[in-house]
Amino acid sequence: MTTSKEYRVLLYYHYVTIDDPEEFAKQHLKFCKETGLKGRILVANEGINGTVSGTVEQTDRYMEMMKADPRFADMAFKIDEADKHAFKKMHVRPRKELVTLRLEDDIDPRQLTGKYLSPQEFYEAMQEEDTVVLDARNDYEYDLGHFRGAIRPDIKAFRELPDWVRKNKDKLEGKKILTYCTGGIRCEKFSGWLVKEGFEDVSQLHGGIVTYGKDPEVQGELWDGKCYVFDERISVPVNRKEHVIVGRDYFDGEPCERYVNCANPECNRQFLCSEENEHKYLRSCSDECRVHPRNLYVKEHNLTEEEVNDRIKKLEEEKALNV
Ligand SMILES: [Zn+2]
Repeated sequence: MTTSKEYRVLLYYHYVTIDDPEEFAKQHLKFCKETGLKGRILVANEGINGTVSGTVEQTDRYMEMMKADPRFADMAFKIDEADKHAFKKMHVRPRKELVTLRLEDDIDPRQLTGKYLSPQEFYEAMQEEDTVVLDARNDYEYDLGHFRGAIRPDIKAFRELPDWVRKNKDKLEGKKILTYCTGGIRCEKFSGWLVKEGFEDVSQLHGGIVTYGKDPEVQGELWDGKCYVFDERISVPVNRKEHVIVGRDYFDGEPCERYVNCANPECNRQFLCSEENEHKYLRSCSDECRVHPRNLYVKEHNLTEEEVNDRIKKLEEEKALNV
């Protein structure tokens, strides 16, 4: 891989005991700020989970510092090149859990987790019989891109996944289960939980989708769409052999990979929407959101009340014609 861009985004996690997460977070934030990084890092008793952006030099310094600490010496960094920072601020937050699953009995992935599969192994396993591929992410992440044929749990947050599995046992029982997520951290716990629930053959994609897309052998094959990421980039490419668009415009169902947030600040719902429809629908997911007094689209475009009403009237007329 040739390095040509000035910035990088690092994605990483590590399950390791951190004795005083609060104090660790304070010191870590200080170091990150001094280094000039931006991003979001969670620290818990069970380890660390972060995404940070910075120049090549800044990110190098960060990785060196982490590797010098025996607790993080073997932590894997996924490195993306970038044109600029992927965050506006730097946060390091102490938390109870690295990923919010809120299980009655917590899972320690260092003791119980699914089998780790390399990208090549995962690629082969996906094509075997009696195998189900289960997406361990949220519905809006799946909708932008996923492994071909993967099951989509209709969940809005990770902590809903165990309930979803219990209600949909018939889809998974007696099968070889393959789970995957963005960087691999969610699957560490989730696959362990599946084993504990009694599923016998559970594997996880080691290093997640991001690693799979970078693997020189598989090159992201069998991935459709893009991979949703939790920073300002919103998505990154995965499949380097072919690009199939699976995202659909919220309004007209046309192929689309452009996420926007609802202009009603109290809604803020994220949905896929073309530039054309952004203007047509005032970047709002519903009529209620369109007429919200603090609608950001209306503000950005200096629309008068009359102009807003005109546009809504037009939408209503169109709807009436289509019924
Ligand atoms: Zn809305």
